[in-house]
Amino acid sequence: MYNTKAYAAASATSPLSLTQIGRRAPTEHDVQMEILFCGICHSDVHSVRNEWSNFMSTTYPIVPGHEIVGRVTQVGSAVTKYKPGDLAAIGCMVDSDGICPNCKAGFEQFCSNMILTYNSPDKHLGGVTYGGYSDNIVVDERFALRVPDNLDLAGVAPLLCAGITTYSPLRHWGVTQGKKVGVVGLGGLGHMGVKFAHAFGADVVVFTTSPNKKEDALRLGADEVVVSRNADEMQQHAGSFDFILDTVSAKHDINAYLNLLRPDGNVTLVGAPPNPLEIPAFSLIMGRRSLSGSIIGGIAETQEMLDFCGEHNITADVEVIPIQKVNEAYERLLNSDVKYRFVIDMASLKTE
Ligand code: NAP
Ligand code: ZN
Repeated sequence: MYNTKAYAAASATSPLSLTQIGRRAPTEHDVQMEILFCGICHSDVHSVRNEWSNFMSTTYPIVPGHEIVGRVTQVGSAVTKYKPGDLAAIGCMVDSDGICPNCKAGFEQFCSNMILTYNSPDKHLGGVTYGGYSDNIVVDERFALRVPDNLDLAGVAPLLCAGITTYSPLRHWGVTQGKKVGVVGLGGLGHMGVKFAHAFGADVVVFTTSPNKKEDALRLGADEVVVSRNADEMQQHAGSFDFILDTVSAKHDINAYLNLLRPDGNVTLVGAPPNPLEIPAFSLIMGRRSLSGSIIGGIAETQEMLDFCGEHNITADVEVIPIQKVNEAYERLLNSDVKYRFVIDMASLKTE
C-alpha cells in the first residue's frame, strides 16, 4: 500500500478538502494510472451529501469521481492490454465477479458483486473504494478502457459516465433515423444524450427548465427546444414521441413526459432524484406506454461508445476547473449552472 493525495468529504455537510488516502500496490492484473482529468457527475453530489441513503448509504470519508482519464504509470506482470505511458480511462465500476450470467453477457453493471469506483467495499485494503478526485488510482485491467488518441482528454473524461449512461439506453431502445426522441434536462448527461441521439440520426427535442440554454441545445444537435414550464409548448408535442430520456436530478413531474409518448413509446429514467416519483396508472395504461430505468453500461459497451466517439469526434462540452473550485462547482450544479460538465484538471492537486 502507498499513500496519495485526494479530495474527500468527511461528512454529509462537510466541504471536500485535501486528504491522504491509501492505494494498493499494483497486483499482477492491475494497472496503475496517474489521473489527468476527472469529471464531476451529479451522482458525486448525491453521494457526498448522502442523498441516496435509502438505497446506498455513504461511508465517510468519501472520495468521489468516476469519470477518470489518465496515463498508465505501472502495470502488473500479467497485464496484456496496457503498458506504461498509455492513455487509459476508468468509469463507474472497478470490479465484478466475472462469472455470473450478467457478467458473462457483458452486463457487469447488473452483477450483484459489482464494485463501484467509490463508496463500495474494497476487498484489497478493507474500508471503501476511493474515486478519481485523486492523484492516481489502481484498477484491474478488465475495468480499464482504451482512449481514442484523437480526442481532447478533458472532454473524454465525462464519456466514462455521462457518455455511457446516455449511449446505452439510446442504443437499447433502438434510437435511429426517423425516431422522435426527447431529452429532458440539459446538464452533463442530457447534453451527451443530445449529441448521441443526433449522431444516431434521430429527430431530437430538448426539454429544459432553463430558457437560456436554448441556443446551446440547438448547437449541440437538438432540432427543437421546449421550455418544459410552458404548458402550451408541451401540449404541442402530446402523443408524438417514440422515446424520451429523462436525465433530471431533482423532483419533477414525469407524467408530463409520459403524456408526450405515442402508443408503445417509452420513457427511460437515468436521472436519480433521491425521492420517489408519483406515477398515476393512467399515464401508462393509455397507449400501452412504458417507463424504464437504465444504469451506466457494461465494459464492452463502454469501449464501443468510446470508439464511436473517436470515429465521430464526439466529446463532452466541458468547463475545466482546478480542484480547489470543486465545492463551488457543486453549488453551481445544484443551480443547473453547468455548461455542460465540470472537469477537474488533476494537475491542480499537485500544487497542494
Ligand atoms: P446535471 O449536470 O446537474 O444535470 C441535471 C439537469 O436536470 C440540470 O442541468 C437541469 O437541466 C435539470 N434539472 C435540475 N433540477 C431540475 C428540476 N428541479 N426540475 C426539472 N429539471 C431540473 O446532472 P447530471 O450529472 O447530468 O446527472 C443527472 C442525474 O442522473 C443525477 O440524478 C445523477 O445522479 C444521475 N445519474 C444516473 C446515472 C445512471 O447510471 N442512471 C449515471 C450518472 C448520473 P435544465 O436546466 O435543462 O432544466
Ligand atoms: Zn456519474
